[in-house]
Amino acid sequence: MIPCAEFEALLLDYPELDAGSRARAAAHAAACAACRAFLAAQLEADRALTAYFAGAHAPAALRTAVRARIERPSPFPEILDFLGWSALSAAAAALAAAFAPSPAPAITAAVIAASLAFGLRSAIDLES
Ligand SMILES: [Zn+2]
Repeated sequence: MIPCAEFEALLLDYPELDAGSRARAAAHAAACAACRAFLAAQLEADRALTAYFAGAHAPAALRTAVRARIERPSPFPEILDFLGWSALSAAAAALAAAFAPSPAPAITAAVIAASLAFGLRSAIDLES
């Protein structure tokens, strides 16, 4: 049986689950009373919200305003994102090295390298 945390994660995409994931979720709900009750509450809330908002449509002006905010380019160039994440990561590494009982140079270098890699990865994630 999958753990409760995995079951809860599956609930996030419950309507779109593939057959295998839905079967794992169903098996967990069948065996776990707490998660079965949670699933029932989620489904009931979904039904109630769907019924409440049936036929409701956002005004066109709201849709346009939201789209404009979503599609607005960042005022900061991507390189600043990279530098910001790298600086934050390096500062964390420096603090960790300063407060470590006796930081070995190799460990400190590894932490700083990992921090720079984290900063680079974060910058790449921001681009996608
Ligand atoms: Zn459970």
